[in-house]
Amino acid sequence: MYEKIYEEAYFKNELLGPKNIFSKMEKNGINNIFDLLYYFPKGYDNRGNIKKIGELKDDEYVVLKGILTNVSSSPTRTGRQIVKGTISDGTGIMDIIWFQRPYLKKTLKLGEEYIFIGTVKKNYIFQIINPEFRLSNGKNVKMEILPIYSVVKEVSQNLIKKNIKEILNKNLDLIEENIPLSILQKYNLLGRKIALKNIHYPLNPQILENCKKRFAIEELLILEMGILQKKYEVDLKNNNAYILEGKKKIVSEYIKKLKFSLTKAQKKVITEIYNSLNNGKQINYLIQGDVGSGKTIVAILLLIYMVDNGYQGTLMAPTEILATQHYLSIYKELESLGIKVELLTGAIKGKKRDILLKELEEGKIDIIIGTHAIIEDNIKFKKLGLIVIDEQHRFGVIQRKKLRDKGMLSNLIVMSATPIPRSLALTIYGDLDVLIIDELPPGRKPIKTKWISNNIDKEKMYEFIRKKLKEGRQVYFVASLIEESEKLLAKSLEEVYLEVEKELGEFKIGTIHGRMKSKEKEEVMNEFSCGELQILISTLVIEVGVNVPNASIMTIFNGERFGLSTLHQLRGRVGRGEYKSYCFLLSDTKNEVSISRLEILENTEDGFKIAEEDLKLRKSGEVFGIKQSGLSDLKFVDIVKDIKLIKFVKDICIEYLKENNGEIKNKVLEIDINEKFNKSLTS
Ligand code: ADP
Ligand code: MG
Repeated sequence: MYEKIYEEAYFKNELLGPKNIFSKMEKNGINNIFDLLYYFPKGYDNRGNIKKIGELKDDEYVVLKGILTNVSSSPTRTGRQIVKGTISDGTGIMDIIWFQRPYLKKTLKLGEEYIFIGTVKKNYIFQIINPEFRLSNGKNVKMEILPIYSVVKEVSQNLIKKNIKEILNKNLDLIEENIPLSILQKYNLLGRKIALKNIHYPLNPQILENCKKRFAIEELLILEMGILQKKYEVDLKNNNAYILEGKKKIVSEYIKKLKFSLTKAQKKVITEIYNSLNNGKQINYLIQGDVGSGKTIVAILLLIYMVDNGYQGTLMAPTEILATQHYLSIYKELESLGIKVELLTGAIKGKKRDILLKELEEGKIDIIIGTHAIIEDNIKFKKLGLIVIDEQHRFGVIQRKKLRDKGMLSNLIVMSATPIPRSLALTIYGDLDVLIIDELPPGRKPIKTKWISNNIDKEKMYEFIRKKLKEGRQVYFVASLIEESEKLLAKSLEEVYLEVEKELGEFKIGTIHGRMKSKEKEEVMNEFSCGELQILISTLVIEVGVNVPNASIMTIFNGERFGLSTLHQLRGRVGRGEYKSYCFLLSDTKNEVSISRLEILENTEDGFKIAEEDLKLRKSGEVFGIKQSGLSDLKFVDIVKDIKLIKFVKDICIEYLKENNGEIKNKVLEIDINEKFNKSLTS
């Protein structure tokens, strides 16, 4: 029954009558009374709180009390009448200005005390233009907190106020609670109606705080309950999952052939996942490990394990270069063990592709390596047992939900080299269990990182690079991708090429960028891998995963233009072999934030620490990997500042789902969740 009312409330805007402002606020995403009720004030006018003139700041919305010491009127140049008053409150004087109200000159009383409310502007002295005002009569101002809304084009503060007030008076009864009662009671949260009333017109500052908390929790609950419910369903459907017999024939052979022994951290992660698979638990893991921690081998050992036990597996990478590299690095060895591995990228077309797809469906191919596009196409497997997604930062909650909805999700492992603090990971990836490879293979030498800010250092750098090239090492140069309009600010790939050629022309130089055909990219990458090219000049295409152990120097132009995590990733392309490695960050930036970024990189190599610093420097919306998480468009929550609250709500959701067998018993919440996920999926 109330579902119907709720629906009505969503769609019937006529409820508001002729003063309806929806047509004007459509562009701002305000389409119905719900949207308007959730158009919360950007601030409040706290009338109990009278400001002193001596403490004013520019652009502040204030209440002032002052004695009128002077009034004059004059026409402006455009012929408008202007009345100017001067007031004093003992801490300073300021001007009050009214346009088009000539009568005020007569009615305002010199020497009387007035209260003024409005926005202060700093001119040569402070001014308020067209304030609300009244005689103070010596009485104190009544304690009252009033909303201040962000105004939008064509819609005034007053009109917004009027509309919202009217809805609060007339339509509040339509609003049903969307937080389950048990949660409201247990955590002592304000009910929805009371909170809506008080977020606009707070009775007192305490209740306002409680309102804010309630809406932050409500917002998180819709997101997290949605994600976690899916996971809960998946966990429940264990009878659907595969119970592996724990065969390890090929796995053991493969491990025997390895040139190194696995690190403790790698072993721990692998064992944990093998065990989960043996338990028949459908797995959803996020493996986080710093650049170079050896995630690829972990992925391979998991895939081989599936093959050992009669299933197919797939490894997906974000770029063709990376997919190809993974393929090239493993296929020979795997085929010698009797495993059939194939590569499937967008570049593989026509007949070859058809054959591949057929063989996959017939189960002739054991492991397929490709780009994320694999899941987009209608590719069928005979017995798909495991999907591993490498470098998942373009693969968020929504994509994972797509996989699940397509029924393609058997067991899922995503691997990320962009570590984020565990607490944040746990909340962003609410539907995944987090494992961490917190150890680098032994013998890694630190990568020396230097910020190059002037030409003298730059010359020295080129000299140093020349020496290393002569010793047989290889070098990367990275240029930032630039828009035509930014040409003045950053060096393009072409300019970098010209500079490098001038300095190091005696060496063999190749370039690679995103607009090249995949075949061409592949060729250049191969030439660099096998040492035919000594220098590779590139855009960000080599950011992730690329592995050329003989390359020992990474040189990044316009270092200030990249985020910390990206720079860390780029740096991770070197230091992969036995040679001491170096990273040069070129930048003449004077910007403080950029400088602190570069300094952080000079001083630390720990990806988790860098990620934490990155979080501190960035605004929350920009945090790497957040965009796809569903957390980026939160209105009332800051994912960095409110991390505790996010965790708190996650726990609430888990508890609730357990108590209710995975069922969301509050219908309104269910509607809100569907709404949220449908919106995210279509946008
Ligand atoms: P990432 O975690 O960044 O994906 P990779 O899987 O590319 O790292 O591994 C980086 C390099 O370390 C590779 O050359 C790989 O062969 C090597 N490696 C991986 N595990 C070990 C280990 N346990 N001991 C020594 N070298 C290892
Ligand atoms: Mg990798």
